[in-house]
Amino acid sequence: MNKLFEKYKEMMFKISSYELALRTASLDAQVIAPSKGSNYRNERLSYLEGELYSLQTDEEFFKLINELINCEELDEQNKSILKWQLKDLKKKRCLPKQFCIDFSKLQMESQQNWEKAKQNNDYKIFEPYLREIIAKTKEIIKYRQNELSGYDILLDDYEPGMDQNKYDVFFVQIKEKIVPLIHKISQTKQIDDSFIFNKYPIEQQKELMNKILNYIGFDFDAGVLMESEHPFTDSLSKYDTRITTHYYENNLISSIYSVIHEAGHANYYYSIRDDIATTYCYDNMSSGMHESQSRLFENYLGRNYHFWDSLFPQMKQLFPEQLKSIEQIDFVRAANKSIPSLIRTEADELTYPLHILIRYEIEKGLFNDSIDPKNLEEIWNAKYKEYLGLTVENASDGILQDVHWSDGSFGYFPTYALGSSYAAQFMHYLNKDVNVDECLANNQFYVIKDWLAQHIHQYGGLYLPEKQIEIACGEKFNPQYYIDYLLQKYSQLYNL
Ligand code: ZN
Repeated sequence: MNKLFEKYKEMMFKISSYELALRTASLDAQVIAPSKGSNYRNERLSYLEGELYSLQTDEEFFKLINELINCEELDEQNKSILKWQLKDLKKKRCLPKQFCIDFSKLQMESQQNWEKAKQNNDYKIFEPYLREIIAKTKEIIKYRQNELSGYDILLDDYEPGMDQNKYDVFFVQIKEKIVPLIHKISQTKQIDDSFIFNKYPIEQQKELMNKILNYIGFDFDAGVLMESEHPFTDSLSKYDTRITTHYYENNLISSIYSVIHEAGHANYYYSIRDDIATTYCYDNMSSGMHESQSRLFENYLGRNYHFWDSLFPQMKQLFPEQLKSIEQIDFVRAANKSIPSLIRTEADELTYPLHILIRYEIEKGLFNDSIDPKNLEEIWNAKYKEYLGLTVENASDGILQDVHWSDGSFGYFPTYALGSSYAAQFMHYLNKDVNVDECLANNQFYVIKDWLAQHIHQYGGLYLPEKQIEIACGEKFNPQYYIDYLLQKYSQLYNL
């Protein structure tokens, strides 16, 4: 057994070396690399991708993992890690090589045409590619048919254990409870957040981000903040995580909340136990679990009044003119304002899940054949009218706004709403053990992080999300916490 396991570890070292090189290069391309060098880069990187693919899907390696899983002497933790790896390997191996090559070419073309369509505000440019991507994804589903079928296969890719039945129950509650509240708010006096859109020089914003990250206890020896078009987090290893943001001179809170959000993702990696941090389960957490940690930071902590007790005076020093007549409470109320809007990524905490509901209903319809891709734009627009009361004037602010469908990432969107809901449940139990308001007010953010590390982060992706929730909370996933949180918070905020 020892020999087999040593051989496996050798292979994993080789694989992770390729992965490190590729991820570093991909990060570089997203934040700093000059565009004219992209052809040369892409050609070499796709060669390396091919090499990595061969290593990962190698027949001997596949057999080795199978053998180890059946090996009696191997401990349970390592067996679980190998089972996750095997599950993902099987997904890769069941597709014919030629199909993968064709699909990856289609993905690139589709993304390019999505970009073009968005720039030209013309859905017709993208439509044929989207139809092809949907058709090919249906073929993938056929290749992969196992215990799961149809759209459930895609949902399980991003959130193992979730399926349409479970999501239906979740989204029905959102629809029934949240839509009426949004309507009520639309008839009441809105919060004035106009000062958010004053001019905030980027140099001072950068100083502010350092202060925020220091307050959170971000380890600058194990992570770095950079800039990119769209904010993201990528971790090369436990002590090497990169987060990015995008600064807008005319928006004070955009960079603030993207940095807090990404710091939540980074913190997850940072607290994974050492015996898991160099294994496959370092970076296989479900999308919903990961998003629960970033949204917990961003919304449940970052939009809490006390998060700003020590930071707000510092922010005022950085922007004395812009915030002259603004008090901490004005800032926090503005940061929590809720108003229906067309763009998902700019949506507030309350209207956000409806953007997701719309995408979920459409994806479900596409893969259950109740929606013809031909009518997609009309369906999209009708749903925005129905759920958010908004008229979509142009496709760029409508069906063309997200990149996800252009490369076939179907099944991903629902995890965004699910993650917020997991976070509400975690917050409920965190509050039982820890006085969160007091910790935030007294600069004891580490107490909160310790709780998260102990109850969630240390395990990495070792457990199914449903099991991880039970470990952290001592009960099953329950979306009621999320609904209650939203109802209570926004009724209070708007005096309803
Ligand atoms: Zn995120």
